[in-house]
Amino acid sequence: MISALCNICGKATKQPHSCTFCGAIVCHDHYNVEMGMCLNCAQRLRHIKKV
Ligand SMILES: [Zn+2]
Ligand SMILES: [Zn+2]
Repeated sequence: MISALCNICGKATKQPHSCTFCGAIVCHDHYNVEMGMCLNCAQRLRHIKKV
């Protein structure tokens, strides 16, 4: 697959990432490389852990 739609912003991306937490396909802008998950999950986990 060359391109995919980001589950967060809905834009087509040639650099799709899949969230290891919820499985969503997101673009590079909406992917947290360090945590390996989409920004939705990264924000949620960060909020829970209160880091
Ligand atoms: Zn996006
Ligand atoms: Zn996610």
